Amino acid sequence: MFDLDGWAHVSSGKVRDLYAPQDASAHGSGDVILVVASDRISAFDHVLPTPIPDKGKILSQLSLWWFDQLKDVIPNHVVSLDVPAAVRGRAMICHRLIMLPVECVARGYISGSGLSEYRATGSICGIELPVGLREGDELAEPIFTPAAKAHLGEHDENISFEELKRRVRAFAPMLRATTLELYSRAREIAARQGLILADTKFEFGIAAESSFARDIILADEVLTSDSSRYWDAREWQPGQQQVSFDKQFVRDWLLSPASGWNRAEDEPPPPLPDEIVEKTRARYLEAFRRLTGTNPEL
Ligand code: ATP
Ligand code: MG
Repeated sequence: MFDLDGWAHVSSGKVRDLYAPQDASAHGSGDVILVVASDRISAFDHVLPTPIPDKGKILSQLSLWWFDQLKDVIPNHVVSLDVPAAVRGRAMICHRLIMLPVECVARGYISGSGLSEYRATGSICGIELPVGLREGDELAEPIFTPAAKAHLGEHDENISFEELKRRVRAFAPMLRATTLELYSRAREIAARQGLILADTKFEFGIAAESSFARDIILADEVLTSDSSRYWDAREWQPGQQQVSFDKQFVRDWLLSPASGWNRAEDEPPPPLPDEIVEKTRARYLEAFRRLTGTNPEL
């Protein structure tokens, strides 16, 4: 956590820390928050004891790049980058929103929790899929598979569109349409860089000042390697596990005998070896470079 002049810490998620202005009038009209991306990394719903150097900067800047690519689809929560020097490059001042309590996931390929659910039920979030799909297969059409946000330390839970409507009422159709539109735009952009965007998660909020309370605003982080599954198009081979651009090395190492970690017992994971830290950092950097064609400011 940082000691930031003019800002008071309000809450921390697994990866990011939120601060509110000490003087509410200091940032113009409307409620703002400072969102700071830390170098913490989580895997299997645990925050690991070892940070990945610069991860927060890389992902924060990637998120900003994507907000800019998508700004004609939907407004986003970014207000300014005029943040305290200690968190420059890893923080943004954002509209403080009332977050809709769901994760809006779009999938164009089958993998991860979607694959597990498909194998168990033949469908994902109540959407029936053809039989015989293999790990990493492309779906005939992208699907919207919302999840209920879990409390800290618990797994998010896939929900049906009916359940989504119970939770967010009239916002449900808009969330679905916007999520699928954002996904298809982003997927095209990633494809031009030789990357497959297999799936991604968005979070939306509504403004507390109700002048435009019926409009949803794109919030949180977008299309980072933490919230999305990117694959190298040249290496894509359905029918087997794909190499992803994020925590692959971390997950593989944690599950290997070398880590000594017992996932089933839900015990805290051990510190990561330097080699895994370095490889993971390189992977985050590579995703940034491949997508944007530039280097992040570190
Ligand atoms: P959780 O989302 O359950 O708190 P997390 O581990 O995903 O856990 P982080 O991603 O580390 O949390 O922290 C970011 C938090 O800030 C999330 O709770 C997210 O919903 C919230 N958030 C993002 N953008 C805004 C915003 N504009 N206004 C208010 N809250 C926001
Ligand atoms: Mg989050």
